[in-house]
Amino acid sequence: MSEPQNIIAVVYDFDHTLSPQYMQDQTILRHAGIEPQEFWDSCTALIKERGYDQELAYMKRMLEHDAIRSLSNRDLQRMGAQLSFFPGIPECFGELNAIVQQPKYREWDVHLEHYVVSSGLEAVLAGSEIAKWTKAVWGCRFDEEDGHISFPKRTISHTQKTQYLFRVNKNLLDADQDVNDHMPEEARRVPFRHMIYVGDGPTDVPCFTVIKKNGGLAVAVYNPDDPTRRSFKKCYDLTHHADRVHFMAPADYRSGSQLRLILEQHLTEIADGIVERRRQAIAATRVAAPPP
Ligand SMILES: [Mg+2]
Repeated sequence: MSEPQNIIAVVYDFDHTLSPQYMQDQTILRHAGIEPQEFWDSCTALIKERGYDQELAYMKRMLEHDAIRSLSNRDLQRMGAQLSFFPGIPECFGELNAIVQQPKYREWDVHLEHYVVSSGLEAVLAGSEIAKWTKAVWGCRFDEEDGHISFPKRTISHTQKTQYLFRVNKNLLDADQDVNDHMPEEARRVPFRHMIYVGDGPTDVPCFTVIKKNGGLAVAVYNPDDPTRRSFKKCYDLTHHADRVHFMAPADYRSGSQLRLILEQHLTEIADGIVERRRQAIAATRVAAPPP
């Protein structure tokens, strides 16, 4: 069955894309009184010396602390309220939605959806301000035993993140559904050309590549207040040296910013394209009445 393909999706990374800090630093580590640099150094040691995956390394290190191991997923979710964001988040979500809510698009049932896919913790994101604006948030998950987080249940590495772009594309939002099932292009709910991916660095390269190769828009953002300029340099390299993204812009989501102009311009172009295609499809089904 063919889909109307009237949906536009913006998919965001979280750490350093929507928020200037790592989510763990602002929530769980602060709760447990752990110094973030020491914590991340101890994770790097696991990765380098014992071959751990990045996500399993931080989840293991967390479970080594009593103050963290005693938490439940519900506790993690509550901590989501402490997350901080770049300027313009979360207002930006509603303001972008307003673009497709104009009568000229509503008449053709054009919709905008927001998704977040992160290698951080899904429970924390689910309790944050952004959750109410997103159709889905995906991240790593802890299992629970006796009301305490116990073991990693699911991890999302930067290469696995691309799987979630296909979940949006095919509308297989439940992680239990097999995303590899074949689906013809016309049966896909959100074609890649209707998708925008916003990320901040090398860990987003697989997603940028999938999006760009399939006709979507890839946007890299950087923290303009980072005095080390590392954040800017990551974006500069992605844009200029690696040709991974279409645009780079400061992570300022407020109305009138460069990022907002890029997002709004592209959204409008996609929405106009959807209207045009739907109009043509209807015109093609109309058979001219015979002359009297
Ligand atoms: Mg990031």
